[in-house]
Amino acid sequence: MPIILGTWKEPGQAAVETAAAAYQQGKSMTECLEAGLARCEDDPEFIAIGRGSLPNSDGELELDASIMDGRDLNCGAVCAMRGILPAITVARWVKDKTPHVMLAGDQARRFAIENGLQPQNLMTAESVRLYEEWKTDPSRLQEYVHTVHDTVTMLGRDDDGHFVAASSTSGWSYKKPGRVGDSPIVGAGIYADDEAGAAGATGLGEELWKAVVSFRTVQNMRAGMTAQQACEESINQMVRRQPKARETSCVVLATGKDGSWGAACTTGTFHLWVHKDGQTTVQEYTGIVD
Ligand code: ASP
Repeated sequence: MPIILGTWKEPGQAAVETAAAAYQQGKSMTECLEAGLARCEDDPEFIAIGRGSLPNSDGELELDASIMDGRDLNCGAVCAMRGILPAITVARWVKDKTPHVMLAGDQARRFAIENGLQPQNLMTAESVRLYEEWKTDPSRLQEYVHTVHDTVTMLGRDDDGHFVAASSTSGWSYKKPGRVGDSPIVGAGIYADDEAGAAGATGLGEELWKAVVSFRTVQNMRAGMTAQQACEESINQMVRRQPKARETSCVVLATGKDGSWGAACTTGTFHLWVHKDGQTTVQEYTGIVD
């Protein structure tokens, strides 16, 4: 039986159920995670991924996505890509159709169009309204506030013990234009290696990236830890070494060769959707500094 994990209460359920249904239809784990993320990207209800998500400080949506295959460590990513859905499909194409790992910005968009996707306006009336509201709020001038967490990061392990990790996000809401977080960065936002397991992250991308948290967590499993121990070790280290990680939610999730899975976060509440033994359930985690 496969294991499929997906982040956050609202989008995670749609992502995991879509991926699990695709698996039942005989799709590969790569196709399943791509289907789960594409489903969430297309839904304007999820405001941190794809259509209708929150833009940068110029009011433009810039999407990041990545996917990694644990069989041969092949991976693909796009960052700061405007007006293209599904971003995760473009990331998969970078993996499958180019010798590269990442394409950025306008050139990622160009590559997507060359491969048949149509550019579109991904802002909805609601995301424009939220942006206008933010722009007129004087407190925004004090600092960029990282409040919305709906990045969908997914991990899968198929019946043959093969791991895939993938992530899709619009990043930090009202971010500085051009800012890229952890999600499309292999080692930070995702990592998968069939020799050890898979891990992924969500939360404050700058801190997750500094910790190279997904790679670190896979290395913890390689050293013999269960998925839960590996996540806790990574998060403990972030709390110890990175003061900002104590203040804002930083999450890591993992699944290991032994069939174990787990997650941990620095602060706040995090929900992880888990599909295992044919059942889909949601688990709640509380930050270790709370
Ligand atoms: N990790 C994402 C980023 O920093 C955002 C999130 O997961 O909330 O871009």
